[in-house]
Amino acid sequence: MNISPSHLKLLFVSTPVGPLGTGLGGGVELSLYNIAQEMLRRGHTLQIVAPQGSTFKSIPLVQIPGNFQIIAQSQERTAPIIISENSVLANMWEYARQVQDDYDLILNFAYDWLPFYLTPFFNRPIAHFVSMGSLYEAMDQIVAQVAAQFPGTIGFYTSSQAATFNINQQCPCLSSGIDLSLYQFCAQPQLELAWLGRIAPEKGLEDAVAAAQIANIPLKIMGKMQDKSYWEKICQDYPDVPIKYLGFMSTAQMQQELRQCRAMLMTPRWMEAFGNVAIEALACGVPVIAYNRGGPSEIIQDGMTGFLVEPDDVNGLVDAIARLDQIERYTCRNQAETEYSVAALGDRFELWFRDILQSL
Ligand code: UDP
Repeated sequence: MNISPSHLKLLFVSTPVGPLGTGLGGGVELSLYNIAQEMLRRGHTLQIVAPQGSTFKSIPLVQIPGNFQIIAQSQERTAPIIISENSVLANMWEYARQVQDDYDLILNFAYDWLPFYLTPFFNRPIAHFVSMGSLYEAMDQIVAQVAAQFPGTIGFYTSSQAATFNINQQCPCLSSGIDLSLYQFCAQPQLELAWLGRIAPEKGLEDAVAAAQIANIPLKIMGKMQDKSYWEKICQDYPDVPIKYLGFMSTAQMQQELRQCRAMLMTPRWMEAFGNVAIEALACGVPVIAYNRGGPSEIIQDGMTGFLVEPDDVNGLVDAIARLDQIERYTCRNQAETEYSVAALGDRFELWFRDILQSL
């Protein structure tokens, strides 16, 4: 294939679980935005295809109508593949099929079976950025199949996430990155803790609430309300804990609240693929106390930029909160600057795209 090394034509196809900008897609929305911004800054041509209703500051989008996909986290491991009538997932990929000849490479952000299945039927290469660990068998199978047929085209956030899939080859681990200029360092925090993320059972918010209760420190909660009954149960179970839910905030508002906190708690029940909120906290100089599994265990430097705690151990969180004085907040910001800049993210993705195109 004749590809100009300095100028790529890229088509990004978004997650079908909701419009971009609503938070329904979780951290992959921020990753998509940051990768897209950086590719445009580097002079590449880029088009994003996303569900109707998407809003992305200063990046043009092709908006596609249709019904949203159900979220993979809510499914059983043996669940069949479900695609509704007038599916936005199918509609986005039909659009991609029609315009594919205008692009060098298509990047898939959907954690869904269909784009993997369609890969051999496209005449342009498709790179798949997988945003969660293994959740259901039909997906595991198609991911492994595409990895075998198109080596190097499956990218993950972290190696612990990649290890949950049954793939017999080294896959690119692309990590994440943020625009550090949007996050301000705060040296003198208030006596409060933060918890950020989608309010959903796999995120284990109740453990952070329990730890805040024992430590007797107020907890600020920010993020998309995905499961209202789960939230109401937490409020019922912990009526006396000083928690404050601030809603789903813009990055600018969120970092203003986050940076004033002594620490951020990350208490996922599931194998968190990465955890963009961890690097956002570090960028503000906020140490992260997290369960020691998945993405956070690859991000946090235990004792330096936070603490890694035995998974599901609330007392471990409380012990770590008591040791926060050991953490130098500048070290947190420094780690974010060194490892998680959007430029470093852009380098990793660009290299991945070129490797795929060169292997054709
Ligand atoms: N987030 C946000 N506003 C909030 C709270 C969270 O925009 O008030 C974003 C945050 O920037 C991050 C995402 O929500 O990008 C959560 O992603 P993460 O990777 O931590 O977890 P996921 O939802 O993908 O499981």
